[in-house]
Parts: sequence; C-alpha cells; structure tokens
Amino acid sequence: MEEPLVGRMREFGTTVFATMTKLAVDTGSINLGQGFPDTDGPARMLERAVEAIKGGLNQYPPGPGVPELRQAVSDHRKDWYGLSYDPGTEVLVTVGATEAIAAAVLAVCEAGDEVIVFEPFYDSYGAAVALAGAVRRPVTLRVDAGRFTFDPAELAAAVGPRTRAVLVNSPHNPTGTVFTRAELEEIAAVCREHDLIAITDEVYEHLTFDDVEHVPLATLPGMRERTIMISSAGKSFSVTGWKTGWICAPPSLTRAVQTVKQFLTFTSSAPWQLAVAFALREEMEWVAAQRAALQAKRDRLMAGLRTAGFEVLRPAGTYFVQTDIRPLGFDDGLEFAMRLPELAGVVAIPTQVFYDRRERGRHFVRFAFCKKDEVIDEAVTRLQRLG
Ligand code: PMP
Ligand code: GLN
Repeated sequence: MEEPLVGRMREFGTTVFATMTKLAVDTGSINLGQGFPDTDGPARMLERAVEAIKGGLNQYPPGPGVPELRQAVSDHRKDWYGLSYDPGTEVLVTVGATEAIAAAVLAVCEAGDEVIVFEPFYDSYGAAVALAGAVRRPVTLRVDAGRFTFDPAELAAAVGPRTRAVLVNSPHNPTGTVFTRAELEEIAAVCREHDLIAITDEVYEHLTFDDVEHVPLATLPGMRERTIMISSAGKSFSVTGWKTGWICAPPSLTRAVQTVKQFLTFTSSAPWQLAVAFALREEMEWVAAQRAALQAKRDRLMAGLRTAGFEVLRPAGTYFVQTDIRPLGFDDGLEFAMRLPELAGVVAIPTQVFYDRRERGRHFVRFAFCKKDEVIDEAVTRLQRLG
C-alpha cells in the first residue's frame, strides 16, 4: 500500500516524548526527557477519584463537563485572576490541554488560515494547525539577558491577511520563560489591531518561581472577549495521566470549541472531574508547596548541570531547564541527546525539534527537574562523565 497517512500529517511521525521515553526505558537511563513528576499529587484528591469510581460515577458525564468542576474552574479563575466565567456557558472540560488546543484550532481555523506560534513550540501545536489545514507562522524566541523572548517587530511582521489566531504558551514549554506584562501587552495589541483570536496554553500557570507572577492574557484590556484560555490539572496537581483540562472563553467561542470537542471525544472521563473540582477548591496550598519544592529542584539541577559543564539558562516557570551544549564541545543537540544514554545514562530532549527553523535551536537541550532529589542527584553524577 502507498503511504496511507494524509500528506499534512507526514511531517509528524512519533512524538519526541514517546521516542525519548522509550530510549530511556530501553537503555536503563534516567529519564529527564518527558515532563512528568515521579511523585503523586495530593492524597485527598486521589482518594476523591477512588470514591467517585466506587460511588458509581462511571457513565458519560455531561458533554461540557460535570457541573461541580465547571463551577470550581469558574471560582478558581475569579479568585486567582479576577476573571468571571459563567460555568454554564463559558467553561468546557476537555481531555487534557491537548484536546483543548486541537479543538480550539479546529474550531476557529478554516483551511488556509494562519496561526502565529512562538518557536520553540510544544509539539501538539504544529499537529493541531496541520489537522485544521491551517498554516503556522513561527515567531522565534531568542535568548536575551538570560531568558528567551521575542522581538515585537517580528511578531507584527508575522501577521498577514489570513492570520486568524495566535497560540500563546506562558509559562512556556520548553524554554521556561514566563511572559512579562509588557510582552503580553505587545501580543494583546497585535490581537486587538488585527482582530485575532488568542488561544492561551496556561498549563503551567501555578508553576512559576522566584515570585514571578503568571499573568493570563485574558486579563489585559480587550482580550477576554477574544481569548480561549486553556489549562489542565496534569501539571498543577501532578496527575499528567488524568488528562483533565478545560477552556474558559466567551459563550460563542466556547460553543465553537464544544461543537468540535463533541466529535473528538464527546465528553471527558468522569471520575477525575470530581477529584479535580475538589483539588481546585481544597488543594491550592499543596500546589504552593509543590511550587516551592520545584523551585528547589530547579536550583539543584541547574547547579549540577553547571558543574557538568553545560551553560544553563534559568527558567522562571515550568518543569524544564534549557542548556547550551557548546561548552561541552558539542553543537548538535539532536545528535547529543541520542548519544546521551551511551555517554552518561541520561535522557534529555533536543530542543531543536520544537522549531520550524531547527538551526535556531540546534545547540539547546532540555532537561526536566520534576523528579525526586535522588534522581536528579544521580543524573548529575552521571553527567559529570561528559567533562
Ligand atoms: N501544553 C504544554 C505546554 C504542555 O507542556 C503540555 C504537556 N504537558 C500540554 C499542553 C498537554 O497537557 P495535557 O497533558 O493536559 O493534555
Ligand atoms: N508536556 C510534556 C513535556 O513537554 C510531555 C507531554 C507528552 O508526552 N506529550 O515533556
């Protein structure tokens, strides 16, 4: 048979996370590649999920999500950001942020429309845009004063007559950048001027460090009405396997996304929804402790990577630290990452795979620090072999 996969999906192959996690398993390496915690979320929340299953919450929940979770999401947006979303018409529960992103792009983009993305970008963005038959327009984040940021002129130049939406991820995976209010103002100004929809991926909203504040784009003037705000329980509560996310958006945008979501998954798994509703109300102190613990882990891994000879960039949020491998005598991060199991028994992610212009990320490699201290320490010990 000829290649059965449609042309627009052929560039995607297997995700880098699946590839690198398999490499870690096959070689017995420490996996600092795929970003998932190696400890559990809050115990009472886990208990709620068990109770939900035992209590019979095992049939299709309502399409938009169980009312308790929609109400908890609405209250959480209000408490944290002062944003009001009607749980009946402006909140939609999704199968993780991944489904939310895909459904949002599929809902608002006609074939041939353009979507602006900041590269390096999370891998599902490219695929979601391709599924819609839309076209991505990358704006490159470059290192300036120790953090990745963009040139507003480059953002403005990326807008054309077919631009429909901007996909904004802050805190940003894989760079660890948390966009400042000034950076968000630049993005908002472009959205308002050209009447663009903003799709914001805020899955790391609670995982910022050094008192850096996460500012949702929807809180800026003129933005709530044009923003599809996406989040997920996976990162906030260390349950990446629960795949429970949500969008908040004005009624017409929520309806549009739900129209698509209905036919992707119809509805999202029921038992987790009650547990996440509980966590949004009762476990934000746990999240605060987790964030402090993650900051210490970030510092631990950064210090270790420096002693191993990497140039290390300081992330203001997320699970990830970016390194420049050139001081170690390497210059291709992909080649380096594929050899790292053999060189040091560690797995990391070659950042270049998140770029359209791969050469711009050629020498960066991403390490995850959402791991037990002893795992980080062992990885650091092994990485000393590189020097
Ligand atoms: N967006 C970003 C930036 C991510 O890092 C991830 C994965 N962790 C997701 C979306 C996907 O989230 P979920 O697992 O809730 O689908
Ligand atoms: N978001 C996680 C990361 O960036 C991985 C998610 C996945 O495996 N698709 O590592």
